[in-house]
Amino acid sequence: MKISGHIAELQDGLTARECLAQIVEHAICIGCGICEAVAGKDRVEMTSFANGNERPLANDQLSSETMARITQVCPGTNLAGLPASLVGPEANHDLVWGVYEEIFLCHAQDPTVRHQASTGGLLTALTMFLLETKRVDFILHASPNPSNPAGGRAHVSRNRDQLLEGSGSRYGTTATLKDINKIIQGAIGNNERFAFIGTPCDVSALRNLAEIDQGVQQCCELMMTMVCGGFMAPPAMRGKLAEFGIPINEVKSIRYRGFGCPGDTVVELANGHTHSMTYLEFWGDDESSWHLPPRCKICPDGIGDAADIAASDTWPGGAPSMEVAANDLGTNAAIVRTPKAAEIVRAAIAAGYLTRGDDLQPDDMNRLQPHQEHKKRAAHARLTALRDVGQLVPETSGLRLQKLADDNTDKFNREEYQGTLTRVEAGKFFETNE
Ligand SMILES: Cc1cc2nc3c(=O)[nH]c(=O)nc-3n(C[C@H](O)[C@H](O)[C@H](O)COP(=O)(O)OP(=O)(O)OC[C@H]3O[C@@H](n4cnc5c(N)ncnc54)[C@H](O)[C@@H]3O)c2cc1C
Ligand code: SF4
Ligand code: SF4
Repeated sequence: MKISGHIAELQDGLTARECLAQIVEHAICIGCGICEAVAGKDRVEMTSFANGNERPLANDQLSSETMARITQVCPGTNLAGLPASLVGPEANHDLVWGVYEEIFLCHAQDPTVRHQASTGGLLTALTMFLLETKRVDFILHASPNPSNPAGGRAHVSRNRDQLLEGSGSRYGTTATLKDINKIIQGAIGNNERFAFIGTPCDVSALRNLAEIDQGVQQCCELMMTMVCGGFMAPPAMRGKLAEFGIPINEVKSIRYRGFGCPGDTVVELANGHTHSMTYLEFWGDDESSWHLPPRCKICPDGIGDAADIAASDTWPGGAPSMEVAANDLGTNAAIVRTPKAAEIVRAAIAAGYLTRGDDLQPDDMNRLQPHQEHKKRAAHARLTALRDVGQLVPETSGLRLQKLADDNTDKFNREEYQGTLTRVEAGKFFETNE
């Protein structure tokens, strides 16, 4: 398998193990775990590093051939839009929001699901529908992780209770794909089908895998995602908890949101005490106060371009006011990208799993997700700046980055380019590898 482009140039002469380490060092690894699945745990193992990140560690058994496969599937090195074969003949195309059949407001019809879920319960209700109508046998998504309470872990759910247990948002590393090979082999062996929920970068990784592993297409019915602004980098999370007088090593669990929209952030300690903070107290009302991992900062696809369906919040301006946060029952925007997802969502509405609200247009999404529009428009300049100073960046296709850059003002592109260089100079695009 041959790797081309700037990644091949930058990795020329490195051993396979050094190539993987370089992806981590250049801060484009997001910890999805698919490299462990592709290589096998005896060659690459997701490991908790001292800085709190969960990252892959390779040994000398990792071959160049396998490393080439990793480079092909890794969402740090390779990102593509929705495969052409999944684009419907009547699909709409928006420069920022990508391919879509329709976009509309909706929420889970079941009040318990709506209340417990992250926003309005779209993803949980839809996957419940898929399970209970036997369209799929299981859902691969993420649940709380007792050994890393700030993050999450992959979980296979086969019933309503398990889905509800995994509902909500995990704003930390969640190696959702580290067992994907075993899961696919098991599904093929048992003649089962599944649906997947992950972050947009997880979905990209699974789509990449589908390009080289027919098993994905054979078993995976639907890929779902959340519109994703990124999560809090582990050192920043430690600092944030410390601000509230909470030492991270005493934390047993963190529920970031849910039980209302967004609901309180609830931190449970090993000694049984809990700290409860409003979403706005914990996160602030402005994305610039979030300390994102570098990969999230330059993410060219926080909107789930490659997913069948993407779910978002619907607060004007992207964050709730105090008053809204206290009273919101939770309503998602559903960005339905493929005809298959459109059919499933219609059936879930007809079967009483989802309640549909007003239609939305891309301009409405810009109003509800201004930070996503900004990040999508900035991606080309940010990636160009990184590439110009010799950093690894993902090879992208089908994400409209050049067209968006052409549509921006020169001033916007210049500022984003310069801002990224400043971040590089400040050492923000380097991660230790231990
Ligand atoms: C990292 C992150 C960033 C986000 N950024 C934005 C944003 O910029 N704009 C916005 O509108 N909304 C954002 N959200 C919230 C998002 O809007 C909601 O999660 C989404 O609307 C789904 O709501 P729901 O009620 O359908 O979810 P639920 O019904 O509660 O279902 C959520 C599903 O997502 C899975 N899941 C949760 N966290 C992870 C994770 N880290 N990795 C893999 N799977 C996971 C759960 O297992 C569950 O199945 C973010 C969420 C996350 C996790
Ligand atoms: S992003 Fe995923 S595949 Fe790429 S190096 Fe990190 S864990 Fe491995
Ligand atoms: S912002 Fe991008 S890189 Fe970060 S978790 Fe979300 S999809 Fe992945």
